Amino acid sequence: MAAQPRFRRVTRFGPVKVGTYYDGRGREKHTAACTAPRCGFSVDYDSRTAAELAARTHRCPVR
Ligand SMILES: [Zn+2]
Repeated sequence: MAAQPRFRRVTRFGPVKVGTYYDGRGREKHTAACTAPRCGFSVDYDSRTAAELAARTHRCPVR
């Protein structure tokens, strides 16, 4: 797996964290990633709003 990007402005929604990072071409990307072990939910978005919405609506299967 590639090196972890440096996340900025990390916010937590339940078990899901949303962080902003710059991809290899200097564009802002927003990732929603669940911290629950074995869940594996992790999605990239171009929009911070979309990432936060996905985090808020994530229904974790691992609880
Ligand atoms: Zn989850």
